Amino acid sequence: MGPCWSISCGYMCCESPRPAGDIDKDREIRVSTGIKIPQMLISRHPQSPGMQPARYDFHAHTVLSDGELLPIEMIRIARVLGYRAVAITEHLGADDPAPLLKRLRQECEMGSGGFGITALWGVEITHVPPKYIPRVADRARKAGARIILVHGETLVEPVASGTNIAALNSDIDILAHPGLLSRREADIAAKRGIFIELTSRQGHSYTNGHVARVGTAAGAPLLLNSDSHAAKDMIGRHMALRIALGAGLRPLDVRKALVDNPRKLLRKIMK
Ligand SMILES: [Zn+2]
Ligand SMILES: [Zn+2]
Repeated sequence: MGPCWSISCGYMCCESPRPAGDIDKDREIRVSTGIKIPQMLISRHPQSPGMQPARYDFHAHTVLSDGELLPIEMIRIARVLGYRAVAITEHLGADDPAPLLKRLRQECEMGSGGFGITALWGVEITHVPPKYIPRVADRARKAGARIILVHGETLVEPVASGTNIAALNSDIDILAHPGLLSRREADIAAKRGIFIELTSRQGHSYTNGHVARVGTAAGAPLLLNSDSHAAKDMIGRHMALRIALGAGLRPLDVRKALVDNPRKLLRKIMK
């Protein structure tokens, strides 16, 4: 049986050999946490032993903003790490996003076609005064962004108050690292189907536990991104699993955050 690229499958065949100790790590997480991890997150593809659960990551930066890697380099590394999809979401302020998105699109199309991964081009609206966020989001969408994030009210940067609410009332896909997300904000996200980010990024991750609790109570769709700026920031599925558990998500909510919600977002984008 050949590789299974169906979005609905949730598994992918990695070109590189299955890393030694992969199965041990699954066991270690189960034993050390005592938590029964949903099968989809640990097992091999039922019909094809070379396959492992896919990783999805919708937040990353390259040399086109403040990251270290070329876009095509980041896409290649994501592919080798077993990602099914990666989104490159460069920082955007008042600039015209069209030239940036044109360049990024070329890189993503080459990476998708050449490496067999879904690479998406997009932006992260960053430190834009709240009242301008809807306009900047519209402009990015018109310029062809496949995915739009807003840099939320993380504890570790002086993001303007009101950014989360302005973002959630704009045409965006993900509110990134929202900091002390309020119940009202989580309710809007749930109602509008805007994804709320848990993150592996140092500093931004301080509030993962709070975001997981408030987001889950409101029924807001959560997912886990890396906000990678360099190769060392990109995480594989085991670290993603540990971070989701560390945020206090219950096993079924872990599955939603790592598999179901990313697939839902991908289906929406690819429509
Ligand atoms: Zn950055
Ligand atoms: Zn970012």
